[in-house]
Parts: sequence; C-alpha cells; structure tokens
Amino acid sequence: MSILVVGSVALDTVKTPFGRVEEALGGSATYFSTSASYFTDVQVVAVVGQDFPERHVNFLKTRRVDLKGLERVPGGRTFRWEGFYDYDLNKAHTLKTELGVFETFHPEIPQEYRDAQVVFLANIDPVLQKNILAQVKAPRLVAADTMNFWIASKRAELLETLKLVDILTINDAETRELAGEPNLVKAARKIIGMGPKTLIIKRGEYGVLMFNGGSTFSAPAYPLESVFDPTGAGDTFAGGFMGYIASIMDWKDGNLRKALVMGSVMASFAVEDFSLGGISALDYPEIEKRFREFKRLSHFEDI
Ligand code: AMP
Repeated sequence: MSILVVGSVALDTVKTPFGRVEEALGGSATYFSTSASYFTDVQVVAVVGQDFPERHVNFLKTRRVDLKGLERVPGGRTFRWEGFYDYDLNKAHTLKTELGVFETFHPEIPQEYRDAQVVFLANIDPVLQKNILAQVKAPRLVAADTMNFWIASKRAELLETLKLVDILTINDAETRELAGEPNLVKAARKIIGMGPKTLIIKRGEYGVLMFNGGSTFSAPAYPLESVFDPTGAGDTFAGGFMGYIASIMDWKDGNLRKALVMGSVMASFAVEDFSLGGISALDYPEIEKRFREFKRLSHFEDI
C-alpha cells in the first residue's frame, strides 16, 4: 500500500562538529519519503518556492516518490531551516526557521491521493496536518510527528490534530514538553490520553521506546563509529517504520516492533552523511543486512 505524506521540503543549513552544509536538501517530508521509498510508493504533499533547485526535484523522482502534490509557488521562497549540533549530537539547536511559502500554503490534495489508506503527517504546522487529513476519505492508519517549535507556538491546534492520530513519533524532550511532565513513562501515558494509541519516543543514540496499548518495547540505536549529521534521523526513522508497515498492512504489536527496528536501521544510514547522502542510494540487501545485525545486537537467551 502506498503512503501519503505531508511535511516540509526544505533547504537546510547545518553545522556539526564534523562539517557544515549550506542550503542542502532537507525537510521532514523529504527525509521521510526517501526512506519510505525503499519499502513502498510515496505520495508527497508539500510546497516549495521558485528558488528550489530542479536537481532536488529530479533526485526525488529517482526514488519512488510521486510529486503531483508538490506545489511550486512562482516568486515564492522555499522553507529554510538553520541549526547546529554540539558534541552532544542528540540535541539540535535551531538558529532560524523561515516558513516562506508554507506561511500561505492552502493545500488542495490531488484527487488520486484522496483514497490514501496510510497517512503520515510529518513535522509541519499542525493546522496544515489537519487540513490535509480532512481531505483524505477513509484513512486506516494515521501517524504523525511534530517538534518543540509547534508544541510551543501552536499547542491548541496541535492537540486538535492529535485527536485524529493513531501513532505519534516524537523525541524525548518533546514528549516531556507536550505532556508537561518530566517522567517519560508518565508523560507517555498522558499523551496516549490525547488521542494516539501508540507513542514512539525517539531518543537519538539511545534508541527508541514504544508504548502501544499495554506493551512497552525498546530498541537500541545502531552503534556507529562515524556519525556526521543527525539531521533528518527522526523523519528517516519514521519513513522506514511506516514504509515497512504499509508494505505489510498489519499493525499488530509484533509487526510494529519489527517496523521500529526497520526505522532504526534507516536512521542509522541517514546519520552517516550530511543531507540525504546516507539514504539516497542504498539497496535492499544492505538494509536487510543491517536489520539482522540489529537483531544480534540485542538478542539474549532466557535464563
Ligand atoms: P529531524 O528528523 O527531526 O532531524 O528533522 C530535520 C528536518 O526538519 C530538517 O531537514 C528541517 O528542514 C525540518 N524542520 C526543521 N524545523 C521545522 C519546522 N518547524 N517545521 C517543519 N520542518 C522543520
């Protein structure tokens, strides 16, 4: 089954202790769809300005990414994000967020996207997330992401969107901020009361934690020797997670666990290079190989 995603398509300026890129291809929808495209077809709803380089559009076309829903606004300016990471690569510091064409975006989704069964509301204005979802006739699985920027600036709107979401993927600081609760387990319980049935907490190099009904599952992050740029790790994780689920269309707990590891596999590739470099040209055997390594990483015998 294909996935419909709404999110940002961006030009990112990022500095890490290992280097810097200027106006590189980024955005939540970009990372998500590139990652998910290894598992299924992806339909993107987003907007870019006239300044968006054609080579980036061409790159996305080389993946299984349908760009009918990518609007280009004449004279408009593409969304830009600027940030940096210190040696603690788990924390992104935002220097600048320029919404550009997203400020006046009123998405009208293509007719052929309206039958989507699996929807991912990637990190973007929660009003846009809700607006897109309202145009989908009968979604069966809705997952979403968000970030501190929206939790702080559009909290009420975000809470409205969350009522319509089955699975929420956010990081640990965002979990605490959204719930207004420092303890992660208590915060998770509070967020599950806001709408989502499943909460996936991304914890950077410490892995991911999933609360799903009564079950809790933890997966490690792949211990990499060379991490260059964590930008996009969260969206790439979500792309692998949702891509795998959409390819089997069964979200029982055991499958969500496998999907969680698949997401972690994809994120581990993403952080090995700047921008989309780590996930632009993988092949499935490579992905499977790392999946098996993950299994060995945390496998142990019962006593
Ligand atoms: P992450 O997976 O959390 O590292 O997300 C990184 C991507 O999020 C970057 O490529 C940014 O372009 C994008 N981004 C940053 N801030 C925002 C925002 N406020 N809304 C939407 N996308 C954003």
